[in-house]
Amino acid sequence: MTLSSAATSAREMLVRLHDVMAARTTAQAKLNSVVKIIGAATNSEVCSIYLLRDGVLELFATQGLDQAAVHVTKMALGEGLVGTIAQHVEMLNLDEAASHPDFAYKPETGEEKFHSFAGVPIIRRERAVGVLCVQHIEPHRYADVEVEALQTVAMVLSELIANADLIDATGAATTRPQSTAAMRIPGLKLVEGMARGVAVFHQPRITIEHTVAEDVEAERHRVYGAFDKMREQIERMAAQAEFGSGGEHDEVLETYKMFAYDEGWARRINEAIDSGLTAEAAIERVQQRTRMRMRQIDDPLLAERMHDLEDLSNRLLRIVSGQMGTAAQLGLRADSILIARNLGPAELLEYDRRRLKGVLLEEGSLTAHVTIVARAMGVPVLGRVKDVRRLIGEGDLLLLDVTDGSVFARPTPLIEESFEGKLLLSQKRRASFAALKDAPPTTLDGTRMTLMVNAGLRDDVAALDLTGADGIGLFRTEFQFLVSATLPQRERQQRLYRDVLEAAGDRPVIFRTVDIGGDKALPYLKDDAGDEENPAMGWRAIRLALERDGLMKAQARALIEAAAGRTLNVMFPMVSEPWEFDEAQALFETQRAWIASRQRKLPTLIRYGAMLEVPALAEMLDVLLPRLDFLSIGTNDLTQFLFAADRANPKLAERYDWLSPAILRFLARVVGPTRAAGVDLAVCGEMGGRTLEAMALIGLGIERLSITPAAVGPVKAMIRSLDRGQLMTDMAVMLARPPRDMRAALASWASDNNVELS
Ligand code: PEP
Ligand code: MG
Repeated sequence: MTLSSAATSAREMLVRLHDVMAARTTAQAKLNSVVKIIGAATNSEVCSIYLLRDGVLELFATQGLDQAAVHVTKMALGEGLVGTIAQHVEMLNLDEAASHPDFAYKPETGEEKFHSFAGVPIIRRERAVGVLCVQHIEPHRYADVEVEALQTVAMVLSELIANADLIDATGAATTRPQSTAAMRIPGLKLVEGMARGVAVFHQPRITIEHTVAEDVEAERHRVYGAFDKMREQIERMAAQAEFGSGGEHDEVLETYKMFAYDEGWARRINEAIDSGLTAEAAIERVQQRTRMRMRQIDDPLLAERMHDLEDLSNRLLRIVSGQMGTAAQLGLRADSILIARNLGPAELLEYDRRRLKGVLLEEGSLTAHVTIVARAMGVPVLGRVKDVRRLIGEGDLLLLDVTDGSVFARPTPLIEESFEGKLLLSQKRRASFAALKDAPPTTLDGTRMTLMVNAGLRDDVAALDLTGADGIGLFRTEFQFLVSATLPQRERQQRLYRDVLEAAGDRPVIFRTVDIGGDKALPYLKDDAGDEENPAMGWRAIRLALERDGLMKAQARALIEAAAGRTLNVMFPMVSEPWEFDEAQALFETQRAWIASRQRKLPTLIRYGAMLEVPALAEMLDVLLPRLDFLSIGTNDLTQFLFAADRANPKLAERYDWLSPAILRFLARVVGPTRAAGVDLAVCGEMGGRTLEAMALIGLGIERLSITPAAVGPVKAMIRSLDRGQLMTDMAVMLARPPRDMRAALASWASDNNVELS
């Protein structure tokens, strides 16, 4: 396909459609003319338009099929080729329609004589409100250029059907949710918490008033102008204090910049204008095409980048249409729950934190930039909420309960009452935990535990003061790399580390060297990693760092220089054999010597530690321990390897228990020699953040936990109600002859001994 011929073909149709649209006739008459024009332009025997009415696709106009079928033939979403196109919002281009598995024969149409079939969705507000299709007697696929032209025409049709009289007739383009009843909508837990607020759409919907251009040159100028303005806005955002030098967020803005100056994107929009669309319609058309492509590509990282592009595309659309302002810019007027298909982290930060109570994302993932930032802001987020923008209307009351993995829309008074009860309880509990901030995590029998927090972003450091934690037991340095479009340079790393150390004051911070690769793949290292079948067991963490030692050297220098005059705690992830630890430590020591040779100030002490995440390392503790200052058990990875169960696979999430005797026995075998060697031992996986699990770890003799900040209060309360000595004695007995359900046994021990669990 040549793009210019696509443009010409579409343009010819649009010129003819333009007159139809302007005519003072009924919507039905317009549709009847449209199918004739498109049928003729594509040399098709048949051209039909189906529109969604009452949730069913109804044949509204046709040329070539039996006219008696109009308003009679109906397809459910997902039924037949037309229903499939609408359901998946995807085009189909077939040389033999009947051989497609989804083909459904409708005898009243008389379509059996037509072989080839091409159909495209008519899209409004990102969902299909109808289908435009053409059919031909000859069994040959339509040319790409013709399908492209159909897609452009479908945009214009979406304007036509949005025209008041047709919308009223079809009810297709309603912005209201299809149901107004109370409804529980499930999703994926991204950031825990509960919230109540009214539904606010991040992007107040932009209505594209006109799709067919009167003057192509004028439209082109409008787009050029909008691009300039958008670039200006992004430069300004980058300069703002909040995103100022050193912040993680300006790295996200670098991605925006990359796209804002991307010539390919501007060119595609220009080509759509060439085909006769207005600037707004052209931007939307390119965005639609990108979305359709994205649905076919199963690459989460690319998807993240595409969301950044989508952000910008929306921004461009707002500028060009003069319908400026996200909900953030218009200002939140009440406690709100924000709804978006996806958000950029910078966009999230534009909201008034006092009114922003929660976020619902149609997409979203645990490692997405926005999730990382929301966690730092303390805003609960529910992701993968399917169809959220269809099921929820602007202004609906929402009760968000991420802990339950759901949101309630338009709750009944009874549901509200029960939610309020739960919320009150959780607030009360949170207040009582906050009151424990300055109380030491000491057991009833007098052992002072060490409770530290896991962190990864600059803002996370605030958690130290809020929770009264003893330090940062795991600083995931890869977060800075994850929120960055390009590899963070050494100076930038150093600034972050220094800021974190300064904010922590006397409290220790354990910096883990980058654990990238695996599920935390970086786009700029992807080519080196290649496609891995099992990325969690692949080229990641220290394996990658020792081979690409430039990365580790830069980080070592950044850390050593940042910790000048203080103690530096460095920890290496995914150590599988002692020599890996030795090499990593030697690399740091070489950097220390180099910095010393430059007469620069050094840390007063560098303490080196390893993470125990790979089971094999447990067999080598006698060799490794004498070299270590500390050991930290990463139970997230360790348990997935012990059970050979992918930690990211939801099907296995419930299958193996952290409290299974196998895991507890394994941990007990590590605790003994490590304590005997006088090496500090901590657990820094998520396991330690749950009260019953934390209790079990303490029962094994573990005295240090590094956990998510929100868990500090509950775990501290548990510790303060615990007789550690008794638990250790009883657990040794339980583990010698493990009961079948260890979790139940431990829970009943806790209950018998009045341990405060939550
Ligand atoms: C772990 O594996 O337990 C751990 C703390 O590291 P991460 O979750 O970052 O892989
Ligand atoms: Mg890990």
